[in-house]
Amino acid sequence: MRFSGKVCLVTGGGSGIGQAACARFAAEGAQVAVVDRDAKGGQETVDAIRQAGGQALFAQADVSDSAQAQAAIAAAVSAWGHIDVLVNNAAMMTFTPLLGTSEADWERVIAVNLRSVFLFCKYAIPQMPDGGAVVNISSVHAHETTPNVVPYATSKGGMEAFTRGLSLELAARKIRVNCVAPGAVDTPMLRNNPDIKSGAEKLTGAIGKPADLAAAICFVASDEAAFINGTTLVADGGRLDAL
Ligand code: NAD
Repeated sequence: MRFSGKVCLVTGGGSGIGQAACARFAAEGAQVAVVDRDAKGGQETVDAIRQAGGQALFAQADVSDSAQAQAAIAAAVSAWGHIDVLVNNAAMMTFTPLLGTSEADWERVIAVNLRSVFLFCKYAIPQMPDGGAVVNISSVHAHETTPNVVPYATSKGGMEAFTRGLSLELAARKIRVNCVAPGAVDTPMLRNNPDIKSGAEKLTGAIGKPADLAAAICFVASDEAAFINGTTLVADGGRLDAL
């Protein structure tokens, strides 16, 4: 039980990888704050954890909104006193060539995927005791990418630079900051990708399950990863190794 007595806050906990991470943290003893803008998915995650005998609460928030982010953090702190693990997982994609991307779409992707990480770190880290962990969910798109997803790839590349810098600032408090970068994982985000639905992009190579990523996230968040800081664990079934 690596997370007994620990409080874990997971954004985007109402679906896919975030939902699996919430379930795994709870199964390993954590009290889990599930943050999502989707009340149905978030409540489903909480109900499943409670039915399995665990502890969880749902806080509805658009992670890009400062007041809503602060309210979600306050809900976890008011229930359990502090936050030990922060997982910044909520994200969105757009699928247009860059020159056809509206300014509004650019700003929305950067706000949901990157500004949210700043907001949750800014307001949750003061509530974390020394020895806590932040896990930011990046993507293989931070390393190698495809056409028509430049805002998304940019947000994930920015997230990895953010992670390295913040890890240095928090080293004295022994709060570790890392990324986990998934490859293709069988979630609604992958299944709803219009390029995959239309066949324009073929799904080749390994496809992971949400539970595979939950295992990687919980490892990086746990004390077993005490010497891992300011870096990215790529969990992609070997995708980045292929030509
Ligand atoms: P998903 O679409 O299944 O889940 C994302 C969750 O985030 C949803 O519950 C959604 O409601 C929530 N969310 C989105 N925007 C939000 C907002 N503004 N405020 C609050 N909640 C919001 O996606 P997933 O595949 O589980 O993705 C999780 C993470 O993994 C993301 O950061 C994604 O970029 C990353 N990732 C996924 C894959 C993949 O193939 N699935 C690959 C690489 C990286």
